[in-house]
Amino acid sequence: MGTKAYLMVKMEMSYARDGHTDGMKELKAMPEIETVEPVSGDYDFVIAATVDAPVRVASVASEIRAKEWVKNLDVLKVEPAAPNPFLDEVCSTPGGECVRWCVQCGMCSASCPNVGKMDYSPRKIIALIRAGRRYDVLTSNSMWVCASCYLCTVRCPKDVKPTELMHALERLSFHHGLRHGATSTPAMYNAFVNSINNNGRVHELGVMSKFYLKTNPLAVLKMIPIGLKLLSRGRMPLKPRKIRGINQLKTIIEKANVLGGAQ
Ligand code: SF4
Ligand code: SF4
Repeated sequence: MGTKAYLMVKMEMSYARDGHTDGMKELKAMPEIETVEPVSGDYDFVIAATVDAPVRVASVASEIRAKEWVKNLDVLKVEPAAPNPFLDEVCSTPGGECVRWCVQCGMCSASCPNVGKMDYSPRKIIALIRAGRRYDVLTSNSMWVCASCYLCTVRCPKDVKPTELMHALERLSFHHGLRHGATSTPAMYNAFVNSINNNGRVHELGVMSKFYLKTNPLAVLKMIPIGLKLLSRGRMPLKPRKIRGINQLKTIIEKANVLGGAQ
């Protein structure tokens, strides 16, 4: 469970008159800070922040103190934060373990080639997870639109691995029956995984036939010319070929399913 802290900030005189708005913007940009309210009296702002552990309150306070317009800062109260079961669930799902490390720098969103098609950018998805907005996250299209290009992952300065997080969210949304209605990605995953389970390798004709039958059978008409070309060049076998040792592979998959790998 996290820690909630309330901090009081007094601005330097020279900034106090015109700098309120800029100061508030700067504070709100800090990922740990939830609210900034202007107050009158001895202080200019009261801040509510949520951090992972009590010890992190000190580092947030020093970061605020280091701003040139801050004259004085006092910690008003520190208490356990309200439970966030959704954040805990994401962190305990393989791929979502690092979500607490995010500093909301936005590098992942700036790098993402598909961000324009997403309901929420990768950075925003993480902010929503940390705000406990389970329904908004799991019904969004963001994870289904992710192309697994790994640009966000290689550029993230905190090693959060947003690509893995997107896959974790796919599993969670499917598991809870909340997946985005317009996505056909699960149908592709199912067809792919069935082919691997049955043959130990991908049988392209079988995968695509199952996928189109599940999603849009008429769309297969567009694929006929390319399918014929592949067939004529021997690049798309009509019948699936099983790998040697398919039974051992099936045993491994069954064991993984028992251990929770099919979540
Ligand atoms: S790049 Fe990494 S640290 Fe920055 S917002 Fe994205 S996930 Fe968070
Ligand atoms: S892996 Fe997914 S979320 Fe990350 S940059 Fe690529 S498309 Fe965007």
